[in-house]
Amino acid sequence: MADKKSRLGCSIDLAGKGKQLGYLTLTWSDNKYAHGPILVPIAVISGAPGKTALLAGGTHGDEYEGQLIARQIIAETDPAQVTGRIIVLPSHNYLAVTEGLRCATVDNVNLNRAFPGDADGSPTMMLAHFVETAILPLCDVAMDLHSGGRNGEYLPVGYLRQAGDAAFMKRKLEATRAFGAPMTVVVGKTADDRSLSAACDRVGVPMIASELGGQGAISMGPYRVGYAGVRGVLAHYGILEPPPDGVPAERTRYMSIPDRSYSAMTPADGLFMPAVVLGDEVKAGDLAGTVYPLGDLTALPVEIRFQKVGTAVARKAATLVRRGEFMFHTAIEVSEASLAG
Ligand SMILES: [Zn+2]
Repeated sequence: MADKKSRLGCSIDLAGKGKQLGYLTLTWSDNKYAHGPILVPIAVISGAPGKTALLAGGTHGDEYEGQLIARQIIAETDPAQVTGRIIVLPSHNYLAVTEGLRCATVDNVNLNRAFPGDADGSPTMMLAHFVETAILPLCDVAMDLHSGGRNGEYLPVGYLRQAGDAAFMKRKLEATRAFGAPMTVVVGKTADDRSLSAACDRVGVPMIASELGGQGAISMGPYRVGYAGVRGVLAHYGILEPPPDGVPAERTRYMSIPDRSYSAMTPADGLFMPAVVLGDEVKAGDLAGTVYPLGDLTALPVEIRFQKVGTAVARKAATLVRRGEFMFHTAIEVSEASLAG
């Protein structure tokens, strides 16, 4: 499918100079979108010759920290200060952003499970195909800023897909250190291959993703970590000078979630009362929280316990929970040497 020509257009010249603000045109014809294309915002800020970075926010429409970091970068960046090019998709899954949802209702496809996409597929598949075939080949580095969305919350972390040969992993680890989040969660080589991270691996572009707070609102601490991280990566690639207050120190703690036993799952529907907060160190047997079944008051509350030692890095933020959902993910520190490829 990747060899088909995209049906999307672009209102600006991706190779042009200066600050261009425009949109991708995605023509789709159903009951709601029959009378004109869907316009997906895109900005290109280009200065003297140099490297190209892609910055994406809103890959999931209900994750706001990344969307606003991307918009801050567009607003404040003068192309005269840029060596190279910054391509920004601040509302990457635009229809999902307009609806405040993780996935757009037009096709209910998760953009981060849509790559390599399909030139003749649904709107989200068409968009993924354009990004993988027309944008990623232009890039030297990519950043995709996620957070927990309406129903989740993460510590502010970098997110790295462990894949590729030793030389490629070295470039990814350098980008991750430049992002400089206090922790970086590493997902294994078996992670889903339909994500933007996986698309970057296919195209050979080092990619640093992130998870920055959540709960369907702006978390200021994670926002600051994310913004500083973006500036750190742009400085590392020589695209923008560091801001006056500097960029993060080039270090991070690498964290792994080895398997599902490091996640606390609820075996029952109900209302969840957590017993720990993000960042807590937990041991096997510690209480993660209690689920109170909804209807039958004689049904006993269900205690959920951690199975392994670890640091709580993500949680289910919604209180109303469904059997099988994860209430917490915990991670353990791993050495950078173990990730080298
Ligand atoms: Zn996301």
